[in-house]
Amino acid sequence: MHRLVISMKLVIFGPPSAGKGTQAQKLSKKYGIPQVATGDLLREHVAKKTPIGIKVKSYLDSGRLGPDDLIVQMIGERVSKPDCINGYLLDGFPRTIGQAQELEKMTDIDLVLNIVVDFEALVERAVGRRICPKCAAVYHVKFNVPQAQGICDKCGSKLIQRDDDKEETVRRRLNVYKEQTAPLVEHYRKKGRLVDIDGSSGIDAVFAQMVKAIDGIKK
Ligand code: AMP
Repeated sequence: MHRLVISMKLVIFGPPSAGKGTQAQKLSKKYGIPQVATGDLLREHVAKKTPIGIKVKSYLDSGRLGPDDLIVQMIGERVSKPDCINGYLLDGFPRTIGQAQELEKMTDIDLVLNIVVDFEALVERAVGRRICPKCAAVYHVKFNVPQAQGICDKCGSKLIQRDDDKEETVRRRLNVYKEQTAPLVEHYRKKGRLVDIDGSSGIDAVFAQMVKAIDGIKK
């Protein structure tokens, strides 16, 4: 695959389990722009016990959003690094209208890719997921069934369900996403900078829609 170097500032919105991370990685590779994932950056700050990390730890632990000013400062610093010269892909930012307004003061966003997936399909996808605690292989009780029920094909370990794949947790995270993101979707839609991506098809089909949308706005 050829890497195209273009200046491109993208934002990706998508509920948990919608395949946002997978698509962000593929886009980052295709367009040669870094994926700037707020959650990953924050976890890194916490692990390194930086001043930002110390301030945001309790927010991360409780699943609440961190303070806008801190997050905006962190993103501002990250996108000023040399690897962002040709653009970047924001994943997990902005998450509030305040953050979107601050981002607008910093730069112009070329396109917001909004992954749309039916919530019930996401619940089914996440709740049925089983993972091997030993070798990290991923299965699904309906879509990717192991040969022997509940046992890893690769290493024979007993499969488990991740805590955050429990139905109650999945529904809570989806509701938080809906409440936080819906106003942002409308904000960018009004600006004519947002395109809906049907996230119900396979990984390659979703990626193809994104590439089409991006190539359609290339300067
Ligand atoms: P994520 O990995 O994107 O789900 O983010 C993990 C946690 O980091 C969230 O639950 C928040 O506590 C925090 N976080 C991530 N992005 C933001 C943001 N844009 N604004 C505020 N808090 C955030």
